[in-house]
Amino acid sequence: MQMPPIEKTQPTCDSSNMPDYDALRGSFSWEDAKAEIEYFDGGLLNIAHVAVDRHVQSGHGDQIALRWISKSGDVTNFTYSDLQERTNRFANVLKARGIKKGERVYSLLGRVPELYISALGTMKAGAVFCPLFSAFGPEPIQSRMEIGDAAAILTSSRLFKRKVKGIRETLPALREVFLIDGNADGALNLAPLMEEASPSFDTVPMDPEDMALLHFTSGTTGKPKGVVHVHAAVVAHHMTGRIALDLRPGDIYWCTADPGWVTGTSYGIIAPLTNRTTMIVDEAEFDVKRWYGTLESEGVNVWYTAPTAIRMLMKAGTEEAKAHTFPNLRFMASVGEPLNPEAVVWGHETFGMPFHDNWWQTETGGIMIANYASMEVKPGSMGKPLPGIEAGIVEVSEDGARELAEPSAMGELALRPGWPSMMRAYLHEEERYAKCFRDGWYLSGDLAMRDADGYFWFVGRSNDLIKSAGHLIGPFEVESALMEHEAVAEVGVIGIPDETSGEIVKAYVALKPGHDASEKLKLELIGHARKKLGPAVAPKDIAFRTNLPKTRSGKIMRRLLKARELGLPEGDISTLESDEQ
Ligand code: ATP
Ligand code: MG
Repeated sequence: MQMPPIEKTQPTCDSSNMPDYDALRGSFSWEDAKAEIEYFDGGLLNIAHVAVDRHVQSGHGDQIALRWISKSGDVTNFTYSDLQERTNRFANVLKARGIKKGERVYSLLGRVPELYISALGTMKAGAVFCPLFSAFGPEPIQSRMEIGDAAAILTSSRLFKRKVKGIRETLPALREVFLIDGNADGALNLAPLMEEASPSFDTVPMDPEDMALLHFTSGTTGKPKGVVHVHAAVVAHHMTGRIALDLRPGDIYWCTADPGWVTGTSYGIIAPLTNRTTMIVDEAEFDVKRWYGTLESEGVNVWYTAPTAIRMLMKAGTEEAKAHTFPNLRFMASVGEPLNPEAVVWGHETFGMPFHDNWWQTETGGIMIANYASMEVKPGSMGKPLPGIEAGIVEVSEDGARELAEPSAMGELALRPGWPSMMRAYLHEEERYAKCFRDGWYLSGDLAMRDADGYFWFVGRSNDLIKSAGHLIGPFEVESALMEHEAVAEVGVIGIPDETSGEIVKAYVALKPGHDASEKLKLELIGHARKKLGPAVAPKDIAFRTNLPKTRSGKIMRRLLKARELGLPEGDISTLESDEQ
């Protein structure tokens, strides 16, 4: 396996948050990081206090905390004071309805202000927040609410009728349903309750190890897991937001992820608020024109998005982008899937700066490996571990996990546990949780390499690794080579069982507008890949698709490509976005 040819991209902005990676890595301690967080007496804390109340107390109540753009384009601003008042009211509503410390409060909402208010208000009250993606059907909602013993849910009348009413009887722990927009049989209208509730609330001081959030994984590799995070996680959210996303007080910041996924909570609610930025929330779904318009008109300084969205922008061509200017944009980052080198280079051409890829998981709660403002970006690399994070490449065998220290060795990406936002459990799945740890390492399930400069390179999920004629082939390497071809918009690569080679490499390709599938193009793409990768690694077969199957959080589901290719059961597809074959 080889690393892609590298052209380093120079740092593009000043980086006062971390001028020197090596220096901070050398001096960093989590104890120091804790000192930046406001604790209550006795070492207690609450994420919502760190995110909202302390800014009001320190005189920043008038700063806009949340700038909400509705689907129709209307803008509503919430200052830190507004957010404090509303989250206080929500916490009082929960208290009045008997929701106790540690009980789980779910949300099933689009990106509306009530989602953000309920997230923080729930934590203020000492309860646990669990956001569900609003496009889930009744079955995935039911199973996730059952796993978390949901005591309450906040949703809309429409979603309640369509998705929650019918499953309610199966959820004995569920006592309260709140609706943001009216009444229904068996559900409470939130608005009058908020009106009646007091605007003051004493945020509940929590033990750092008390549960704050329950997040479900994306379900890319199988049945989603319920991941438990605690209040202490805010120390990592705050620090990583500052160091890896370069967030500074007063920044205009746009995280495009939905809070139904961990990115949309850790970096779409908590880190931007603890770092006192103004966060942009757009209720609408992806749209090329709207996104460029928002970046420009809102004067976004820091933008955090995902490879799928970047690929869709690339697919739309550079014309749209050229119609706008982004003088305020300072830092762009990406997460969730491997970011092809092509996309980093495109970012540079289009915005004058690279996308900074970073890697983490629902389990890690926060960014673990990143490209930083002050560091050279190697397109295609995930960057280096955060200060305070020890990452290694390990080989796992019956004897245990052994670190592979030599540069370019491929193995499982592993981390030494101990950072504050690490998961504390897979809820009700102790055995699955225990299996993640070996010889003092947390095993991520991803394969990676580390180069001689200490940069980490994603190879693929361990389940997706292809073994062909004695070669180990990571899908990302093949996908990135095909992405370089002008006709390719998106690509997913899998291994297919083969009698002679063990497995052969097959690619599924979606084309850019103006390109049509043909035998000629197929041969051209195979030829292009052979030239880049050599015949042993290049795909032997290519199938054209209009779209690739993806999770609702935008990850290509290679296991589904494979199941369909081989006629095998599709497994848990609760997070599948409707796809076109
Ligand atoms: P499940 O665990 O249910 O199969 P999932 O792993 O996709 O779903 P998440 O926790 O949302 O759920 O995603 C984390 C995974 O996403 C990582 O383990 C990795 O495979 C992938 N990922 C995240 N960021 C990157 C990145 N920068 N480069 C490559 N892969 C990434
Ligand atoms: Mg996972």
